[in-house]
Amino acid sequence: MIAEVIVDIATSETDRIFSYLCDDTVAEGSRVHAPFGGRVTAGFVVALKETCDYPLEKLKKVTAADPMPALNAECLSLAKKIAARYACPLAAALRLFLPAEMRKGKVRELKKRYAELCAPLEEVKEKLSKTAKNQLAAAEFLAAHGKTECAALNADFAGSVAALEKKGLIKITEEQVLRDPYKTLEERGAAHELTEDQRRAVESIQSDSRTVQLLHGVTGSGKTEIYLTLIADCLKQGKTAIFLVPEISLTPQMLAQLRSRFGKNAAIMHSGLSAGEKFDEWWRLRSGEAKIAVGARSAVFAPLENLGVIVIDEEHDSSYQSETAPRYSTFDIANLRAKRNGCKLVLGSATPSVETYKRAKEGEFNLVPLKKRVNQRPLPEIVIADMRKEVRRGNNTPFSFALQSEIEECLSKGNQAILFLNRRGYSQTVICRDCGYVAKCENCDVSLTYHKDEDCLKCHYCGARYRMLRGCPECGGTHLSYAGTGTQRVEAELKNRFPSARVLRMDNDTTSGKEGHFKILKEFGEHRADILVGTQMIAKGHDFPAVTLVGILDADMSLHFSDYRSGERTFQLVTQVAGRSGRAEEKGKVVLQTYDPENEVLRYAIAYDYEGFYENEISLRAASLFPPFSKIVRVLVSGEDEKKTIEALRGVYEGLNALKESEPEAFLFFNKMRSPVGRIQNKFRYQVLMRLAENRVLAQIYKICAAQKSRDVLVSVEENPGSLA
Ligand code: ADP
Ligand code: ZN
Repeated sequence: MIAEVIVDIATSETDRIFSYLCDDTVAEGSRVHAPFGGRVTAGFVVALKETCDYPLEKLKKVTAADPMPALNAECLSLAKKIAARYACPLAAALRLFLPAEMRKGKVRELKKRYAELCAPLEEVKEKLSKTAKNQLAAAEFLAAHGKTECAALNADFAGSVAALEKKGLIKITEEQVLRDPYKTLEERGAAHELTEDQRRAVESIQSDSRTVQLLHGVTGSGKTEIYLTLIADCLKQGKTAIFLVPEISLTPQMLAQLRSRFGKNAAIMHSGLSAGEKFDEWWRLRSGEAKIAVGARSAVFAPLENLGVIVIDEEHDSSYQSETAPRYSTFDIANLRAKRNGCKLVLGSATPSVETYKRAKEGEFNLVPLKKRVNQRPLPEIVIADMRKEVRRGNNTPFSFALQSEIEECLSKGNQAILFLNRRGYSQTVICRDCGYVAKCENCDVSLTYHKDEDCLKCHYCGARYRMLRGCPECGGTHLSYAGTGTQRVEAELKNRFPSARVLRMDNDTTSGKEGHFKILKEFGEHRADILVGTQMIAKGHDFPAVTLVGILDADMSLHFSDYRSGERTFQLVTQVAGRSGRAEEKGKVVLQTYDPENEVLRYAIAYDYEGFYENEISLRAASLFPPFSKIVRVLVSGEDEKKTIEALRGVYEGLNALKESEPEAFLFFNKMRSPVGRIQNKFRYQVLMRLAENRVLAQIYKICAAQKSRDVLVSVEENPGSLA
């Protein structure tokens, strides 16, 4: 047989496919040892053939590296589709399916050494001197307990293993052990009996014939229980499941729940694991030992066969869009896998993305609503604090008077509070602190972004520049503000104002390391702190029963983020954050601070009126032809050498321009410009921004861009990018 092998998958930027001879231990998808350029490297078999054009006697031979092919047929075919869809090398698509260690071809299996006695205890004792206390004790221990890990023996009886081994009294064996990243988790939470609403939702999902099911349930409506029921059902039928959550939702609570429900059947993949742990979890799935893959977006590539369900929790979350090439959409991949396996793809959210909801309303997806919280607990009341008035009353702290008194009350009752601060975005919008005026682009109706380096305002959609304001054009006031308050300042002010409160802070600065955010969440969950201050990290998925107060310190920051989705994001954030409050017996409260209390989006959010928000938003999008009525495509060209970067940009632009000339009706907008942040990490950045009326030209756009890529210049295509920085 002839094997078509991709070599050097870890670093190759182009596909290097070579033919080799192989025997029948090698299958499609096998990892092989391949002689290449004087050394032996790892390769992956992407196809098997009977013949090839090359003289057979000149072909070298490959041998399989593992008893089982690393990639199954589905993964291989999916990788080929991804390579075609995003015009990337097959090697890059294959990388998505393989843990880092496997890609480099050096897999370190963790082996442990075990000792057992070779002879009956009496015989062993006779051969030991009476003074060898540790060895005697170790021998007795082994006689009583049988085979024991060497490390444990040595820990209790120092030096005993080596001494006994030398005398030939114990036998040492090595065994592969799989690293268990969560062995310290306590188990929690048996299955709840489903409520009537939950049961109806499960039935609707299972009996509907459409692939995609949208579970639209308010926060606290018990969506997790529904997912777990669906997954348990698949296991019963001998099938497997993928359960995707936003990275941050892999809380200790969630993990403990999965462990107690599914034990070792669940393999957990997330970015905090070491490479070795990731490999082991991956291997447990590939070998069939584990049947459920749980993790952030990359778990959609789990090497499972016979899928029974794929769940995407918090489907609206922006982390489901990959930000490195190939920039795949997790939904698209999951949808392909669900179709191929003939299983359901269940999307869940309290605030579905506008695009998803539109497709559900139009009947493409089954819409499954859950309108009430479990046990009919009320949704927390949201009150608005008008920050313009606070400024007039001389309050310059980040906390309105209303919030201050709520915090006092919450603390005095021994409950917990969460204060949320949205620090998203790299540069800020200009807001008048007197009247709430926000600077907007004349052409695009999106808010402008202040660029400190050039002291001007820019529109990230059309590139227009405006002079920085010296006063408010509406009210003439001079209290222009463009600096959001940071979490650190909030923490300090809290300590000042509520000295006895125990405050925890959770943001990018405090959550580094493998278990950074786990530790903080665990501490808060065990009520070892009273107030948790954080960025959107704390908005998602957590279930803290003692939290009765949520403060949203700056609801405006995301509202005026210069993005067509800012309204949607704000609605989602307010709903999600508010949903953290009052989840147990006691009623929850939310204080929402804003400079724009009349804002429509906020009005819908405090009324928990998703439907109203959606109708309003979708008509705005339809009128302005923003997604889902069009697709925004950004081509980002970046490189350290400005001349080469501009050259590549010219190539991209000319290619795309020619395409536009030939297909004028496909383009609603087309422009090239310096990107909003002209330089990041010493790389110059230019972009071509397009709005497409039709997806038909997308494949050509990818092709044109792929052709301009080089060693020095990166050219990336982003569809509906989450940020235009
Ligand atoms: P959601 O994901 O919809 O916000 P969760 O799945 O976190 O909601 O559920 C909210 C709370 O309700 C959790 O504390 C969960 O343990 C509890 N819960 C869910 N289903 C039931 C049920 N059938 N009976 C009792 N409690 C339940
Ligand atoms: Zn503009």
